Amino acid sequence: MRSLKALFVCLATFVMLFAIQVPAFGVEADDILVETPEAVEAATRAQEAGEAFVPDIDSIEAPDSALRAASDGQTEMYRLYNPNSGEHFYTADMNERRNLVAAGWRYEGVGWVAPTSSSAPVYRLYNPNAGDHHYTLDVAERDNLSSLGWNYEGVGWYSDTDQTVMVYREYNPNAIAGAHNFTTDESEDVYLGSAGWNREGVAWYALDYGHAKVSYIYLDAGHGLGSSSPGVYDSGATGNGYIEAEQTAELTELTAKYARELYGLNVYTNVNSGVQYWNRQADANARECTSFVSIHFNAFDGVATGTESYIHSTAAAPGSDTLQSIMHSHLVKSLGLRDRGTKQRELSVCNGSSTGIPATLLEVCFVDNSYDMQVYRQKIDGVARELAAGLNEAVNAGF
Ligand SMILES: [Zn+2]
Repeated sequence: MRSLKALFVCLATFVMLFAIQVPAFGVEADDILVETPEAVEAATRAQEAGEAFVPDIDSIEAPDSALRAASDGQTEMYRLYNPNSGEHFYTADMNERRNLVAAGWRYEGVGWVAPTSSSAPVYRLYNPNAGDHHYTLDVAERDNLSSLGWNYEGVGWYSDTDQTVMVYREYNPNAIAGAHNFTTDESEDVYLGSAGWNREGVAWYALDYGHAKVSYIYLDAGHGLGSSSPGVYDSGATGNGYIEAEQTAELTELTAKYARELYGLNVYTNVNSGVQYWNRQADANARECTSFVSIHFNAFDGVATGTESYIHSTAAAPGSDTLQSIMHSHLVKSLGLRDRGTKQRELSVCNGSSTGIPATLLEVCFVDNSYDMQVYRQKIDGVARELAAGLNEAVNAGF
């Protein structure tokens, strides 16, 4: 499609302009886990006793499994947001969505459901000067904009001729790029009007409402200040002169840095915040986070080696296993140590029964195994980058 080529041109421009800024949430927090030493030992012993390691690759689901599947004749319109220009962008093209996310856009979910075809095409245009897009049902407006220097990029999607769901259009007179917003949410339309936008009425029609959401990752550094009791520093496991809580804090911050810089993801880091580990799910819920990843380091007998991950064995929120598979495979790949598999245990930090937040806990490697830590310390930058790539894959899968 002609539109793709044009889009890559505008993408290249955006990439060059990018210096992503991320809202700074103070520093802070701490982490989670109900790992009683007894439970850890028992589980690890069973593992070491020869429980065969079974790679869990088969459980990795297709990237979009978390999204509602559209029926025949229906197309989900992906909504993306450019944190630098403020533009919202809409596309039915999965590859285009991925390319934009790789360039720093945030995926915000399905904006609405469009018919796959109809007699009412919505035309897409690109302004090479301002760097934003415009969409219209109006042939005269399309041709007028073309004559003014906009690039016509083809049919973006189709309007529902039965006019099932109204898609509202608002115009921001103060914005430079991304002056228009489109939404099926009437309250958003009203709100923007009160915030100084011009409400421009119905832009086109959808078959069904979307389910846009803003992905927000709760990245939790295991242990630390107040994790087990208020005001007390919980060091976690120790070995080889390393302290687990210090390792988790460092890797959490570095991973968040890359997730923000490389992918534009929204990440909250819980590092030495004083929140007790059994309250961290509630903390994530209060912050309206949409996924939960806790970073830990293992310890056993100085010989046990490798990487493993957990979800709650009885109270995991739906999707936790998919989130686990994604993060696990990236982590294992980054270290190259023994893959101990994806596991389940009753860890309170992963208990999503009251929050519904998909959660997984990563045991990076064994802090008391000198070889594990030598490998990890050499590769820490790559590990953080790979975890950030995993978070990005998770966000693209709807987490
Ligand atoms: Zn731990």
